[in-house]
Amino acid sequence: MSEHTFSGKETRRLQELVKYRFLRSGNNASFDHIVRLASKIFNVPTSLLSFVETDIQWFAAQTGFEPCETSRDVSFCAHALEGSDVLVVPDALEDPRFASNALVTGAPFIRFYAGAPLITSNGNVLGSLCVIDQKPRPDFSPEDQETLRGLAKLAMDQMEMKRLSEMRRAALCLNRTSPDAILHINAAGTITYANRAALTIFGYSKDELINASIDRLLPPNLQRKMAAVVRKFRRTQTEFLSFSPIESIGLHKTAGAIPVEFSAGIWTSDTSFCMGVIVRNIANRKRREASFELLFDRNPIPMWIFDAETLNFVAFNDAACALYGYSRHDALTRNALDIRLQEEREAIRRTITEFGEFYHSDRAGTHLTAQGERLKVLTFARRLRHNGKDCVVVANIDVTKREEAESELASTKIFLNAVVESIPSMVFVKEVDNGRFVLLNRSGEDLLGVSRHDLIGKTDFDLFDAIDAERFQDADREVVASGELVTIENERVVTPAGIRALRTQKVGVPDADGTPRYLLGISEDVTERLKVEEHNRHLSLHDILTDLPNRHSFQTALQQLLAGMSPFALVMIDLDRFKAVNDTLGHHAGDELLRQLSRRILSVIGEKDIIARLGGDEFGMVHTGQGVSEESVRHLAERVVSAITQPFVVDGHTVSIGCSLGAVLSPDHGTKMDVLIKRADLALYAAKSSGQGGSRLYEASMEEKADRERLLRDELKSALRKNQFCLNFQPVVDALTQKIVCCEALLRWHHPTLGPISPSEFIPAAESSGLIVPIGQWVLEQACLQAMQWPEEIKVAVNLSPRQFTGFALAAGVAQALSRSGLTPDRLELEITESVFLSDSQDNIQILKELKSLGLRIALDDFGTGYSSLAYLRKFSFDKLKIDRSFVTDIATSKENLAIIRAVIGLGKSFSAIVTAEGVEDLEQYECLKAEGCEQLQGYLFGRPLDPTALSALLLTGGRARRAEARR
Ligand code: C2E
Ligand code: CA
Ligand code: CA
Repeated sequence: MSEHTFSGKETRRLQELVKYRFLRSGNNASFDHIVRLASKIFNVPTSLLSFVETDIQWFAAQTGFEPCETSRDVSFCAHALEGSDVLVVPDALEDPRFASNALVTGAPFIRFYAGAPLITSNGNVLGSLCVIDQKPRPDFSPEDQETLRGLAKLAMDQMEMKRLSEMRRAALCLNRTSPDAILHINAAGTITYANRAALTIFGYSKDELINASIDRLLPPNLQRKMAAVVRKFRRTQTEFLSFSPIESIGLHKTAGAIPVEFSAGIWTSDTSFCMGVIVRNIANRKRREASFELLFDRNPIPMWIFDAETLNFVAFNDAACALYGYSRHDALTRNALDIRLQEEREAIRRTITEFGEFYHSDRAGTHLTAQGERLKVLTFARRLRHNGKDCVVVANIDVTKREEAESELASTKIFLNAVVESIPSMVFVKEVDNGRFVLLNRSGEDLLGVSRHDLIGKTDFDLFDAIDAERFQDADREVVASGELVTIENERVVTPAGIRALRTQKVGVPDADGTPRYLLGISEDVTERLKVEEHNRHLSLHDILTDLPNRHSFQTALQQLLAGMSPFALVMIDLDRFKAVNDTLGHHAGDELLRQLSRRILSVIGEKDIIARLGGDEFGMVHTGQGVSEESVRHLAERVVSAITQPFVVDGHTVSIGCSLGAVLSPDHGTKMDVLIKRADLALYAAKSSGQGGSRLYEASMEEKADRERLLRDELKSALRKNQFCLNFQPVVDALTQKIVCCEALLRWHHPTLGPISPSEFIPAAESSGLIVPIGQWVLEQACLQAMQWPEEIKVAVNLSPRQFTGFALAAGVAQALSRSGLTPDRLELEITESVFLSDSQDNIQILKELKSLGLRIALDDFGTGYSSLAYLRKFSFDKLKIDRSFVTDIATSKENLAIIRAVIGLGKSFSAIVTAEGVEDLEQYECLKAEGCEQLQGYLFGRPLDPTALSALLLTGGRARRAEARR
């Protein structure tokens, strides 16, 4: 009977049958009683309580039949199902439906069958209660059928009872073990049943709950909801109404509100209705949810969940929204490939389908933000069930910044390497612990002559000899201990290029903990620099021209000697006529002369003596060693003077120069450098002023003289203003007629406290202070004014100092004196000395010509005392030569002087210059000079210098100097 179909009816029947399957165990004493009763009533051997399933029939109870299941095909009961009434088969062999049935033709050889359907309250037929015999029973009456039906109903009722009690037992068991609260509530809202879980969840005892109102457990909104459901239930008149779980809160006796899930069902019971309420404590779930929220939604790591099949995003956390720039809503409309590069999407899709439980990217992939920016992201994924679907949860670590930083770090490293490599200094790094080299740059390779390949991993002891290595190691240790940058000057290292001097800076480089792990060193090869510095130092201490020590090192040597307190002599040397060599032979010759001269001096001084060039033609000498004395200094000075005064051959010219030396002894003349130098200069000045050169040892009187000079210089400053000057005039007479032809103005200074001061004393002071310029101008003007008082034929002579030759101002000053006084220029004579030619002779000759062009006359004073008078005579045509008094004084006794006078007179004649003799004091001199043809004479014999009044008186008396007076 495989053709039977599962009609709706059959389906419902089978569904209801399920409720009774618990009977299949067959251990059902009460039903056994019914089948035995049936078999007895109907006097049949077999009675069965049969249930028909889809394919088989089974028996809840049987008698006279081996307990077994049979196929539905052969089941008589299956036929009984079709009608709702008793099926009677009086003789199976006679019934076409069953004649060939295996149970009829074979064991148990059924001939009679009567079955009453087992009908449930819903009208479904589950099976039958049947009686069976192996004999035909044509006599089965309608009363029998009625009885069988009644027995079937009894069986059904019993089964229903059993089912209900069974259900009740299960429900009770369930209620007892359920973790959810189960409550029964009657129509009045009173709790009639509460399971154990209800007591636990709400914290009440059973006594407190039973008969209490359900409202005590529910918040007002839930109470209202319940009331509404009840109203609806009443209105709709349905049998059962339930409402699906809603999340709410329950009211715990002591803990107050607790999160619960609330569901309820309402059904009618008897006249009223009943409500079953199930309350689940969802505190844990809430906590889980909260932690999921925390773990996912609020996770600072950008995370999402996508459907493994569609790849659509199903969750997107806040951090992911922030990083990718999507709103959550936007993100949930996209899929896992949307955030990837187009060209990578296929590969990504493959990876998603192929990876196992977990996945993590081995390198950062490129993700796209909503704005299309690229991110570098490491992804970690795992599969999970989410809302009943296979999903993948992905955590994304944004390493964009890190990659940028890494690439920056890499480029910084490259840059640093390049710097280290190209730096001209040696750079090395050693490990502090073991002193092994870990780095050496190219300059280091070049310097040490070793490749870094051979050096790295080795220590100083492998590379240098033990003493040097020890030295380096000690230094390293000190550097590390100091924690500071340490500079080691002049560190000596043996290299293939010989011993080199390094300037090394070392510093400990700490690791992250701060403990010095490496030692960084930078060494500069300063060998050449030191050489240059040494050379420079030598240069700075020596004179380039002569290679003698210079002023600076001379002073240093002096300081050292003074500090040593040992006696020594300081000698200052000044060359005479050196300027003339320079002027006439050129600077090259001057330099050569100085070099030769230096060598000569060096050859005559003692081993411990020092000769230094202090500048120009100025030298300084220190005489030191055992037995320094006035005597030894004098000897040394003599040797030096004679060495210098020997002629030199320079550029083929033979040159003679002189020199002056001034010496002091320490400690006799002082123990301070400036004092000693000043006194040596005074001695030198004294030697120079003697005019003859040579050497002088310092004497106290020199200082007195210098002091006096200083005093005079000070006083001179105001002398002009204070009218302390006046002029005297000394007559110059014609040698033949003895008539006054000229008067020489001679300056007189009468100081109110110092008394009259000789011009030979104050003129040098005025010259050295420069005051001679205004004073000289005053003299010029006064002299011209005075001359205006004299007879016209008498000229006036004015002395000019070389210091007045400061430029063309001199000629202007003279012109001014002439014009102010109204004196005609031809009455003015200017007397100059040869020294005018010593400095800037070219310019001074120019000035002389300028002066002469004013129409006045120029006389060469003190003629014969100079050096190369003849050369000057050729350079400038003087109007007058005045023979110095020193030649006149011993004219009678000195044949040489007479010869000189004679020569000068001859010269004067040949240059058309008038020759005047000075200092004529007696008649003998007068006669002699007159005889020699000297044209003019001056001297006490003819008149002393007179004040202007006396002179005027003299001139008035005839203008002839009285020889009688002179003779006195
Ligand atoms: P000087 O130009 O050779 O002047 C002549 C000096 O010889 C004067 O000395 C004069 O008094 C002195 N004298 C003249 N006749 C005799 C004599 O018979 N016997 C001796 N023993 N002496 C005689 P004074 O006035 O002391 O002047 C000294 C020097 O001072 C002058 O030498 C001159 O170089 C300088 N001097 C004087 N007045 C001036 C001046 O106004 N300007 C400049 N630049 N120098 C002046
Ligand atoms: Ca003079
Ligand atoms: Ca003179």
